[in-house]
Parts: sequence; structure tokens; C-alpha cells
Amino acid sequence: IAKERPGTSFHFFSEEMDIRSFESIKLENDLYKAIERDEFLIHYQPQFNYKDGKITGVEALLRWDHPEQGLIPPDQFIPLAEETGLIVTIGEWILRKACTQMKDWHERGFALGTMSVNLSVHQFEQKNLFEIIQQILKETELAPSYLELELTENLIVKNKDLTMQTMKELKALGIKLAIDDFGTGYSSLGYLQNLPISKLKIDKSFIDQMLDDRSAITNTIITLGQNLNLEVIAEGVETKEQADNLLAQNCTLMQGYYFSTPKEADEIFNQYA
Ligand code: C2E
Ligand code: MG
Ligand code: MG
Ligand code: MG
Repeated sequence: IAKERPGTSFHFFSEEMDIRSFESIKLENDLYKAIERDEFLIHYQPQFNYKDGKITGVEALLRWDHPEQGLIPPDQFIPLAEETGLIVTIGEWILRKACTQMKDWHERGFALGTMSVNLSVHQFEQKNLFEIIQQILKETELAPSYLELELTENLIVKNKDLTMQTMKELKALGIKLAIDDFGTGYSSLGYLQNLPISKLKIDKSFIDQMLDDRSAITNTIITLGQNLNLEVIAEGVETKEQADNLLAQNCTLMQGYYFSTPKEADEIFNQYA
């Protein structure tokens, strides 16, 4: 098309933009329908204590089984779900589903410690987030201490007062709070001290850099966690070398492909229960 109209490169670009927005409009429409069509599913990734090899919990990770495109990873539709506000409905769905799963495992004798669920900025800005979570726990009869919510630093610093208040309420109910992708965001160390959290998740990027004598960051986060009395878990551990190295630095909790990729609920039960 650009060839047919020499010099009109503007036209070429604008057409490209039209195509892109058409695709994103289609995806947006599909996203609206995905809930009622029951196209979302959860994969669970185990977390381990590397010292004794025991599973300590799982993280619930959202997947979209799109009718034409197949399984779509969250990075490809969560931003859109955030933009459109659909994340609120989807987030409520995943919380209910994950808590129901955890309760079911417990009833079948699989004594898993924590079910971790990721929360996004928009979800945390909902006024009634606390009531919704409380309601879901009541409905599913899951004790709050088995639920862990993963928040990012950017979420926490975005609306400090509201976030702090909601976090305090959630903690008072007995829910655990973890900071996801720790070290990549904008929270200050001074602020961290006052947060009602119980765990730091070291971002995968620091685990990747750790070998070749570059463990300064992981070491610092692990020590920080110890000093603040927080649990520390390493994310994205892919090799035995990394796992051994982390253990030598006194980090025992780990999650990553070296141990297991995210899997369907039944697979988790069959393998670890
Ligand atoms: P996250 O919460 O930091 O989750 C960890 C991501 O790293 C997951 O990707 C997981 O599959 C991947 N991962 C774990 N171990 C390894 C490893 O050893 N190597 C590599 N290369 N990757 C590993 P996933 O499932 O694609 O999720 C991406 C992000 O999407 C999550 O990052 C989280 O921020 C977001 N997300 C996932 N589910 C939900 C959800 O239900 N709600 C919200 N708000 N966000 C979600
Ligand atoms: Mg997470
Ligand atoms: Mg993470
Ligand atoms: Mg992430």
C-alpha cells in the first residue's frame, strides 16, 4: 500500500495503527466475554523450602484459554484488563477459585501452607476490596492465614494512605502480604519498615545476575529481610547452582522452573499431596 502511494508514509503508519487497534479492540471484546465463557484458568507454581525439600505453598497464576489463540499468558492481557477495569471482575474470580482450591486440597489432606494470589493496582483501588476478600474467605471457609496476597512496590507507593489502610485491615484479618518483584520498584527502604507485610519475593532479575560473583543485591535483600523479620523467597530459580548459592546466603524459600513450572491443580495434588 505504501508503494502505491509514494511519499505518503503517514498513510502507511496510520493504517498500521488501525490494524493494531483493531486487534486490541478484538482482544478487548474477547476479554469481556471470557468470564461468562469460562475461559480463564489457573496454573499453580509450587514454592519450596530448599533445606528440607518440602513444598510450602503455591502461587496462583492466571491463564486465558482463548478460543482461537490458545493459552495466553497474563502479561499479554492483564494490562488490557487493568485499562478496561475488567481486572476487578477477573481478580475476584481468581481469588474465589484459588481459595476454593486451597480449601479442597486441605479437605483432601493436602496440608499446604499458603495460597498466593497476585493483586493489581486497579484491584487495590477498589473501595470494597477488603469486604470482597472477607466475603470470599467466608464463602469458601478458608482460614485467612492460608491466603497470601502479592503486591508490587509500585502498587504500594501509588496511593499510600489508602493502600496502607487496606493492608492493615487485611493483616488484621490474618491474611499474609508479600511484596512481589522486590527490588525493581520505587518503594523506599524507610517506608518498607512500616508496611504490614510478612514476605519479600526477590525478583528473578537479581537471581539471574547472582552467579559470576554478583550476589551483592540478593545478599542485601536477604539480610534486609532477616533484619526486618520478614520471610524472603527467591523467584525464578532455574538451576541447582542458583539454589545452592541462595541457600549459602541463608535464603531457604524458593520458586522457579528448577523446581517446577506452574501446573494444573490436579498435577500439583498428584505430585505433592
Ligand atoms: P509474577 O507474579 O512475578 O509471577 C512470576 C512469573 O514468573 C510467572 O509468569 C511464572 O510463570 C514465571 N516464572 C516462575 N519461575 C520461573 C523461572 O524459573 N523462569 C522463568 N523464566 N519464569 C518463571 P506468568 O505466569 O506468565 O505471570 C506473569 C505475571 O503476570 C506475574 O508475575 C504477575 O505479575 C501477573 N499475574 C499472573 N497472574 C495474575 C493474577 O491473577 N492477577 C494479577 N493481577 N496479575 C497476575
Ligand atoms: Mg507474583
Ligand atoms: Mg514476581
Ligand atoms: Mg511480575
